[in-house]
Amino acid sequence: MKVEFGKYADGLVPAIVQDNQTQKVLMLGFMNEEALHRTESTGKVTFYSRSKQRLWTKGEESGNFLELKSIAVDCDHDTLLIKAHPLGPTCHTGADTCWSERNHSEDFLFYLQDIIDLRKQASPTQSYVANLFSKGLNKIAQKVGEEAVEMVIEAKDNNDQLFLNESADLLFHYLLLLNAKGFSLQDVIEILKDRHSK
Ligand code: AMP
Ligand code: ZN
Ligand code: ZN
Ligand code: ZN
Repeated sequence: MKVEFGKYADGLVPAIVQDNQTQKVLMLGFMNEEALHRTESTGKVTFYSRSKQRLWTKGEESGNFLELKSIAVDCDHDTLLIKAHPLGPTCHTGADTCWSERNHSEDFLFYLQDIIDLRKQASPTQSYVANLFSKGLNKIAQKVGEEAVEMVIEAKDNNDQLFLNESADLLFHYLLLLNAKGFSLQDVIEILKDRHSK
């Protein structure tokens, strides 16, 4: 792969990072030759930070690394497109991308999923999520069953607020169960998409 690092005076080329699963554009950074080599050799996307004036591996403080999947160079060899798997929100604001607001409804479930993943490491006495995880997979699965039954009961009633509350309980515990099984919403979405295309 040929990259024209000499094209701009500072030896940096723009690198667009795209989520290899959702295809969302996550962030833009700049790479010099060393940053590109570091990215390739470590499998973690690394930029040259002009503000830090050093190589900067995205996630070095937050743990939200970008796991390298592929690198492509554009038509005239001066811009990189990096596909990566983000191990958490990419933007330092906590949003999943640098162009999204973290509470947009369409992203909220994914945001919640990240929060769940963080909370399960908290102390079981302080966090409901950590407490449930400490009781194990069977307990979480059982909770999903209970919430589903509660939702069904409320569906037969005509109290819409109770029905919606139980629906939210179910969805929340469903996310917990997916996480406990080592999966994410994206895995389920892939299956639904696959079925849809048939
Ligand atoms: P991180 O690399 O995620 O550990 O974040 C370390 C620091 O890098 C943050 O405090 C921000 O100053 C900066 N930073 C993190 N993510 C981004 C981003 N997506 N775009 C620009 N700066 C960022
Ligand atoms: Zn170009
Ligand atoms: Zn950002
Ligand atoms: Zn409930």
